[in-house]
Amino acid sequence: MKNNGMVKEIPSRTERFSDWYTAIVLKAELADYAPVRGCMVIRPYGYALWENMKERLDRRFKATGHTNAYFPMLIPEGLLKKEAEHVEGFAPQVAWVTHGGDNKLTERFALRPTSEAIINTMYAKWVKSYRDLPVLINQWCNIVRWEKATRLFLRTMEFLWQEGHTLHRTQDEAQEEARRILDIYVDFVENDLAIPVLSGLKPESEKFPGALTTYTIEAMMPDGQALQAGTSHNLGQHFSEAFDIRFLDKDNIEKRPWGTSWGVSTRLIGGLIMTHGDDRGLFLPPRVAPIQAVIVPILFGKNDDMVLAKCHDALKALEGLRIRLDDRKNQTAGWKFNQYEMMGVPVRIEIGPKDVKKDEVVLVPRDGSAKRSVKFTEIMSELEKLLDQIQNNMLEQARQHLAQMTSEASSIEEFKKKLIAKPGFIRVHWCGSQKCEDKLIDETKTTPRVMVLDEQGKTKGKCICCGKETDTVIYYARTY
Ligand SMILES: [Zn+2]
Repeated sequence: MKNNGMVKEIPSRTERFSDWYTAIVLKAELADYAPVRGCMVIRPYGYALWENMKERLDRRFKATGHTNAYFPMLIPEGLLKKEAEHVEGFAPQVAWVTHGGDNKLTERFALRPTSEAIINTMYAKWVKSYRDLPVLINQWCNIVRWEKATRLFLRTMEFLWQEGHTLHRTQDEAQEEARRILDIYVDFVENDLAIPVLSGLKPESEKFPGALTTYTIEAMMPDGQALQAGTSHNLGQHFSEAFDIRFLDKDNIEKRPWGTSWGVSTRLIGGLIMTHGDDRGLFLPPRVAPIQAVIVPILFGKNDDMVLAKCHDALKALEGLRIRLDDRKNQTAGWKFNQYEMMGVPVRIEIGPKDVKKDEVVLVPRDGSAKRSVKFTEIMSELEKLLDQIQNNMLEQARQHLAQMTSEASSIEEFKKKLIAKPGFIRVHWCGSQKCEDKLIDETKTTPRVMVLDEQGKTKGKCICCGKETDTVIYYARTY
């Protein structure tokens, strides 16, 4: 095919991973650099992807009793300062509004770096009795954090996310909520995005400022770096103390509610690109792909009308799925093949004069598996079957990759060797002391990512640093 220049312009994924990533984001028109340093414009194709992700996640939140609301993005400095640990954690990244028009403000406003402060201020007003609990509110919004080094989707000064903020009558209920959300995140990221994750607890040093415990899901990218894909925090009573939230309980005693907060962001799109993309471009899982299949007519100048009519019939037959018909005559079929592969469309449907005569269409999966001819009458069921297969294969392949990128070490020397030979997650035993953690971080330039819940207390071993017997297991990695 001529005119496949599109593909040639993408740098090799294995040789120049970082350049490859940026090229994909720009060429697939997911996002572009904004005139403001560190900010991005999410283009329609990227935004359609985000909308699909949002819709599938939102459905899960609502099925578990949550509702959406919206709070202002300007947060008075006084409110932010009410929880000391919280403000300290975010201070270096806060962008401040200091003027209204030409007038200097008496109090600065933060552009929300997260919304605990403003939301809990409102909760103090709304929650008076145990009958007002639980409060299960989620917000879809933008966040601003003054980042020094930025990368499209992975770390930008402004990004989109959802943040859930809940209040509960008892500590157990808050704990259950934090875990429930962790499970929702795992389900969504693995089953819809086909990205396998390690899920569990953050160590003390890595938890969210102001949280009792932080749960996390961590994915492994092809370059051996971990990507924190979502977090769910049990906030204890920190924020209800700081914002003076009290309720009259069943026993007529005034108490403080227990809180959680949790979020995932557009950063997940970065994870999607890196996990599934290849040298031909993006590859999107069918459940969230803006275009699940593209119909490409094979035109020869003869019988074109017949072919095009069949393509429109196919479009109609596939109503309910996200299908594009590309019947432009100013691009060759070969150019279109490359273009939609680069855009990561899971399936291409080819229809030419021979297919029309046989009353068939050709389905070509993006994953490189064999193309297949199917009867026109079975186009819907066959395509749905193929999309499911692709979705499952993507997760399976990513799972194998995660397993390959995970190793173990029992000494710092072994850790360092493994990190060079096989960058990825390194599983170690840890005594739990800050001193040992600091030493490992310092010597290996990695960070502790997650303590997988299922493994805790089940495998005995010696702390990688001090040799003390322990049954705590933790995964380290380099990170974005
Ligand atoms: Zn130790």
